[in-house]
Amino acid sequence: MSEALSGPGSSSEGPGGPSIDGPHDPEHDPRASYALEPEHVARLTDRVVSTTGTTVQVFSPINGAPLANIPQSSEADVAEAFRRARVAQAAWARVSIDERARILHRLHDIVLDRQAEIMDLIQLESGKARKHAFDEPLHIALTARYYARTAHEHLDPERKAGVVPGLTKVEVNRVPKGVVGIITPWNYPFTMALCDGLPALLAGNAVVIKPDAQTMLSALIAAEMLEEAGFPRELWQVVAGPGRVLGTPIIERADYICFTGSTATGKIIARQAAERLIGCSLELGGKNPILVLRDADIERAAEGAVRASFSNAGQLCVSTERMFVADAIYDRFVERFVARTKALSLGTGLNWDADMGTLISADQLETVSAHVDDAVAKGARVLAGGKARPDLAPYFYEPTILEGVTPEMTCFGNETFGPVVSIYRFHDEADAIARANDGEYGLNGAIYTRDTERGRRIARQVKCGTVNVNEAFGATFASIGAPMGGMRESGMGRRQGSEGIHRYTESQSVAVQRLMRLAPMLGMSDETYAKVMTASLRVMNKLGRA
Ligand code: NAD
Repeated sequence: MSEALSGPGSSSEGPGGPSIDGPHDPEHDPRASYALEPEHVARLTDRVVSTTGTTVQVFSPINGAPLANIPQSSEADVAEAFRRARVAQAAWARVSIDERARILHRLHDIVLDRQAEIMDLIQLESGKARKHAFDEPLHIALTARYYARTAHEHLDPERKAGVVPGLTKVEVNRVPKGVVGIITPWNYPFTMALCDGLPALLAGNAVVIKPDAQTMLSALIAAEMLEEAGFPRELWQVVAGPGRVLGTPIIERADYICFTGSTATGKIIARQAAERLIGCSLELGGKNPILVLRDADIERAAEGAVRASFSNAGQLCVSTERMFVADAIYDRFVERFVARTKALSLGTGLNWDADMGTLISADQLETVSAHVDDAVAKGARVLAGGKARPDLAPYFYEPTILEGVTPEMTCFGNETFGPVVSIYRFHDEADAIARANDGEYGLNGAIYTRDTERGRRIARQVKCGTVNVNEAFGATFASIGAPMGGMRESGMGRRQGSEGIHRYTESQSVAVQRLMRLAPMLGMSDETYAKVMTASLRVMNKLGRA
């Protein structure tokens, strides 16, 4: 735990804290008081562009106690943030790519060095288990290193073949868009602030970011680390307030919008971006399937299914909410999956003991409870979990496995965004693929099989932006060189890889024509010119085919 915390600061659940099966030990009450030093909070909140004089109090889902007062931004503050960002961007665009990459490498090290402080803030604001909080600095270190190493590959001018070989020289430049607006959710507050922001900065842009209100501190420590690494402070502006109030002022001023959140909000953003003809990328919701084929390694699939379904208490865009299991192994798989789920230790401490933490809010608890209660009322069976655990934290809900879920139930096709997974049998491969592709989403899928060739063949038929074979989501998510994003209602555009940085640039083609004009030569009639060109095109097409 970092020095920033005072008070007991740990739930002391002890190794193997309470689980679904185990009773809660009242001696190890997680409602210990977690308090941040006021100077620490002030140092971070000082970065919010705010002249309103109003603050909003944020409470920790660990114990419901007040955590920090966050200054709020007005529309005028958003305008000021963009003004500052534009000034900073003009200077930043002149900084060499090598220097920008050097700063990114430094950020990589800072994030790893200060990981305890980052994880404390993430846990206090979100209530997730420490091992899930660790995924955030890990993901950002991977992202920083990838883009730092490949900066020239993505951003150097690219030579292209010209229309007249040897005489038309063409290069494509990558021009920064300008100021990018980023709007992020609460579930991975540190990662979401930076994983889309780093390539924007590397490409020569400035950023105005509006993080979710519940997780401002995790986003603000990201801003602090950017400055520590060497990015000019003014290049990264943070505003705070409700999305429905600040969203429009941001979109009205941005040169590009990067949004992560729900599909419903994504559609609002897309409409507003279209009105201004600015580009946007939308990373949205999912109802992600896993297929467990009959030749799967059952133990490995069961272990993967637990991580897939209950990481960050299921509040993860790529987490699994639907499992399709081959008839022949269904009973053995379910036995192992249920046993592993029931053995998870549940808790909220700032230590490494818990396998799963709490939901983040009363709203989340309400949605999760409503989905499970509705399913049970309509005939679904609960194989594990199925109830709230207020003895652990105000919004805690057990990891839950449902069987017998049918289309009339809310959780059949709607994203729960919680620790609830429905499990189904399948009889043949085509049926399994069709059911996995059912619905409107298309974010992430997974296939467990010992035959990896078969896994790849099936993957190509799954309508998801990322598909993992013998992993649930981590293999694609952590492979930063490969694009990540959603098909259908799960989004538009991609983060990571070259698409993840090129979205923040305008491609500009510059052609230099030498000697020959692109017109009839002196004295040549237009008709003769057309004949010469036609003959040349035919020859070139023939040569191209040979
Ligand atoms: P949300 O859409 O309610 O909020 C996300 C962000 O948008 C917040 O900062 C919020 O303040 C802002 N916002 C809300 N209304 C807005 C508006 N009208 N205009 C502009 N901004 C607005 O989503 P949420 O419930 O906080 O997050 C959970 C959702 O995010 C889930 O559906 C989840 O699947 C999705 N998500 C997707 C990814 C991904 O990479 N695909 C990652 C994380 C979360």
